[in-house]
Amino acid sequence: MAANDTQPTECQGNETTPLDIAVVGAGIIGVLTTLGLLYHGHKVTVYERASNYSEGGGAIAFTGVARECMKQLNPFILEALQQVGEANRHPMNRYWDGFHPTTKELAQSEESLLFQQSAHELDYTGCIRSVYLHEMAKALPDGIVWFDKELESYSEGPEGVKLRFSDGSTAQAEAVIACDGIHSKARRLLLGEDNPESRPSFAHKVAYRAIIPIAESISALGEEKANNQCAHLGPDAHMLSFPVAQWTLSNVFVFVHDSKPWPDSHYLTAEVEKSEVVAAISKWGPSIRELVDKMPEKVSKWAIFDMADNPANTYARGRVCIAGDAAHASSPFHGAGACMGVEDALVLVSVLETALSRSVRSG
Ligand SMILES: Cc1cc2nc3c(=O)[nH]c(=O)nc-3n(C[C@H](O)[C@H](O)[C@H](O)COP(=O)(O)OP(=O)(O)OC[C@H]3O[C@@H](n4cnc5c(N)ncnc54)[C@H](O)[C@@H]3O)c2cc1C
Repeated sequence: MAANDTQPTECQGNETTPLDIAVVGAGIIGVLTTLGLLYHGHKVTVYERASNYSEGGGAIAFTGVARECMKQLNPFILEALQQVGEANRHPMNRYWDGFHPTTKELAQSEESLLFQQSAHELDYTGCIRSVYLHEMAKALPDGIVWFDKELESYSEGPEGVKLRFSDGSTAQAEAVIACDGIHSKARRLLLGEDNPESRPSFAHKVAYRAIIPIAESISALGEEKANNQCAHLGPDAHMLSFPVAQWTLSNVFVFVHDSKPWPDSHYLTAEVEKSEVVAAISKWGPSIRELVDKMPEKVSKWAIFDMADNPANTYARGRVCIAGDAAHASSPFHGAGACMGVEDALVLVSVLETALSRSVRSG
């Protein structure tokens, strides 16, 4: 259960009658949606399939737009990110040639800068996922998160929605916001099990990810590049490197095109040998080869699945809606995925507020 610090979830003075809302899924979007709903005066219960908060240790970055939405949802959500995250120090987002430079010196020179974009338009704050999730969860009032509750089905009646879980238990709510991720059960229940819109498809990209000491990154990329967020481009692949954990660690992502089908869409991550990544960038410049060489012997590999082939034609039916990856899992480029989920949360809180204040006015 969550800690007992209730201050960031104190209601900011909602004039309307609050709703009793069930949030399904305690990932990043489920937790921040809950914090937003509580702050805007609703009663919330969260049902999570896992036995605890289960976000992995990889890094994630949030744009300025997402951070503004966080502030409006509940200022604590943004404060928590600022507490555990790192903003880019450089005023530009820079895209470097990772392939052609034949020496590390050349790779660090302006000659290798392919293009750049003002960070004011699209600046990122990066953090370690699990650290941010736990920081946010500290603010959830004790007793509102129920773990080991896997949504299996639901039905709607005049009183609201009845949720059924795989352990045989049930729960009642006036409305449901399902943030149950890319394989969302709620989406399948909402759109139909056989509907192609219920299933994500392989984007034919895989992401290798490792977190290494910043000193290793400095050795490969140089001080300036290692201490800032950088994209490194090359044929059939691109890389991201950015500092996390107060500039003590460097998060390294290698995104590689993969023409083969992914073996099992239910397992999107695998631990693989570093040699697989080394082979994928073997023709790149020495700076990038050295960076990849600094990765540990075992590296996380993520299959990128998204809803681009079969986007859902609706995200809501009756009193149930889907949000975050459950609604529109996307390829993680330009920090699209979770950032869109943050926008979902703010839209939902605002729409509820408008609808409830209209119903109060009309009696
Ligand atoms: C390599 C990679 C890098 C990325 N980088 C970024 C980035 O920098 N910036 C960005 O904005 N996005 C990024 N994304 C996308 C981002 O990770 C996702 O959009 C985000 O994590 C989705 O959060 P969520 O809470 O919607 O889903 P999830 O994190 O998947 O959480 C879903 C939760 O629901 C629970 N659950 C599932 N089924 C049930 C059920 N039946 N009943 C109850 N609970 C259930 C799960 O256990 C889980 O806790 C990246 C993605 C990848 C693959």
